[in-house]
Amino acid sequence: MRLTNYFLPTLRENPKEAQIPSHLFMLRAGLMKQSSAGIYSWLPLGLKVLKNIEEIVRLEMDRTGSQEMLMPTIQPAEIWRESGRYEDYGKEMLRIVDRHDRDMLYGPTNEEMITDLVRTTIRTYKDLPKNLYHQQWKFRDEVRPRFGVMRGKEFLMKDAYSFDLDREGAIRSYNQMFIAYLRIFKQMGLKAIPMKAETGPIGGDLSHEFLVLADTGESEVFYHKDILNFNVPNDEIDYSSDLQMIVDEWTSLYAATSEKADQSVHSELAESLMTARGIEVGHIFYFGTKYSKAMSASVADSNGNSRYLEMGSYGIGVSRLVGAIIEASHDEKGIIWPESVAPFKVGIINLRKDDSLCVKESDLLYSAIGDAGLSVLYDDRDESGGAKFANMDLIGLPWQVIIGPRGLKEGQVEVKNRATDQKQSVPLGAVLNVLLGR
Ligand code: ATP
Ligand code: MG
Repeated sequence: MRLTNYFLPTLRENPKEAQIPSHLFMLRAGLMKQSSAGIYSWLPLGLKVLKNIEEIVRLEMDRTGSQEMLMPTIQPAEIWRESGRYEDYGKEMLRIVDRHDRDMLYGPTNEEMITDLVRTTIRTYKDLPKNLYHQQWKFRDEVRPRFGVMRGKEFLMKDAYSFDLDREGAIRSYNQMFIAYLRIFKQMGLKAIPMKAETGPIGGDLSHEFLVLADTGESEVFYHKDILNFNVPNDEIDYSSDLQMIVDEWTSLYAATSEKADQSVHSELAESLMTARGIEVGHIFYFGTKYSKAMSASVADSNGNSRYLEMGSYGIGVSRLVGAIIEASHDEKGIIWPESVAPFKVGIINLRKDDSLCVKESDLLYSAIGDAGLSVLYDDRDESGGAKFANMDLIGLPWQVIIGPRGLKEGQVEVKNRATDQKQSVPLGAVLNVLLGR
């Protein structure tokens, strides 16, 4: 992509509504634009990151055997009346009446809708287990939307729902999601700590929140310092194997948000206790038959007896993750994208638009890098070098290739790594090798 063609409305000034780095940089780097409080348009650069996050989530969810689908954003109120949550959900639910006076709502979550879907399609234990997910926009009329995508009214969530015949099966499903979450966040360059959590309006008796440590996080968290040394299962993980031991290890040390904090444990832990702030990026629940009972979702077991489905639900804040990744990875100049989610892998800076050799070599490198399968944003604008450097650092692409007349005299360009800030002079013919890590 040539920057002269790209829609990238960056801001020079710091927007005054932004109180935390991720909100500031998402606005300044032209990732998104506010439409109204807590509601944003995703601009091309921001959407690329959002899609990359979605894809990491998708691939890992698929690996667990969960299957992607897509449910609507607008839901009928009646299924929420069945579960009893229509009243309970309160003012956070955006309620809508259609032209036939039917009560509708913009979904804040999908337990009712998926239970309704499954009760009319799954009839016997032979159809179980099933785990279904989607990545869909949610709406919660938050009292205080703030910090940009961190607490929006409209936000993208990955929500998965598991259906099993018995508690044992449901715990297996829960464990699969537990491990998948550890792996998903790691692939985004994040260290997320699972913490015992309140089940809140979703209900249930087993629940973990996954929190990324960040000074700007909304939650106060407490954890045993050694939890940071636990290993995240690698690519060899077999989701059909018994995962209990891994989950047991991760839950063997104390970790809790302030809502679940236990003062007596805190004094016991003494020096080993860490206090920090965290961002909730995921939340998993096992809630048994809470919804299946209320909504009569049952199957016939092997003896022909009717049994209520054992369920769990599993959320990831996909749009919140864009902010969480920036909170975890930035400096005073801007964003530092981990390669796995970066909107482009490489940024090319041509320092001299009026120098025909610079233009020619920049154009050639632009084609060569693209042909090698790397996504590349080419700053071919007629701007000063300083402005281009600042812009490239702001948008945070992992690699910068800087082309100027002085280097070209020696047949060299400069390659800079955004994360380490290391710059090296590289002969034109070797640029691809450096970028491809060869
Ligand atoms: P919170 O405690 O932050 O309000 P929650 O516990 O109500 O979140 P869940 O119902 O567990 O949220 O939703 C699953 C995930 O969706 C959360 O872990 C979070 O990452 C994300 N999420 C929830 N509310 C918002 C929001 N208003 N804006 C952006 N992401 C959100
Ligand atoms: Mg939660």
